[in-house]
Amino acid sequence: MIKKYLGKFNAVSLSHELMKANIQPGQIWVDATCGNGYDTAFLAEAVTACGHVFAFDVQTAACEATEARAKQAGFKHISIFNDSHENTVKYITEQIDGAVFNLGYLPGAARKITTKPKSTKKAVKSIMGLLKCTGFICITAYVSHPGGRREYRAVMRMMRKKSMSGYQTIVFDEKPEKNPSPKVLFLQKQVDF
Ligand code: SAH
Repeated sequence: MIKKYLGKFNAVSLSHELMKANIQPGQIWVDATCGNGYDTAFLAEAVTACGHVFAFDVQTAACEATEARAKQAGFKHISIFNDSHENTVKYITEQIDGAVFNLGYLPGAARKITTKPKSTKKAVKSIMGLLKCTGFICITAYVSHPGGRREYRAVMRMMRKKSMSGYQTIVFDEKPEKNPSPKVLFLQKQVDF
């Protein structure tokens, strides 16, 4: 596992840069935590109308905000599900090109509702099973709210497991134990030779 720090970006812009480098029109992406819909809109624009974005959130208000943003932008190639990202496989039957997780709580809403280690790990694992070769998952994790660092560590432990062979993982984090800034974790399915 490589650990790098790229000071030029904040976590969200870094995750967008990583995605932009690979995302193509026509692709299928998942926004596992759609929140206010910024990532969903970013993905929808990049995959264009010949692609598709599946967006998930447990909060109705988040789904509504995402829907409003999609409508305003005129995007029709988005499906929004008011359900936990653990259940993505119930809704998606095709293989996907990638997924984005922006963990933590919804900015401007109740901080009590946050992503949780157990369901996040379950969701990442099930979405890994949907990935095409070279498909990737980009996870932004926040460590300064209660439970955030525990969630980040849980995902990091999962990424170190043997079952991750076949996936390349990169973590953007300067001092894993101390640095309070958000982390970006990148996981890519390797090509089968
Ligand atoms: N990407 C969003 C911000 C996400 S904030 C944006 O661009 O605005 C994190 C979101 O995760 C919150 O909206 C929260 O409701 C959602 N969330 C928490 N637990 C979840 C779960 N199990 N499944 C799906 N979404 C969840």
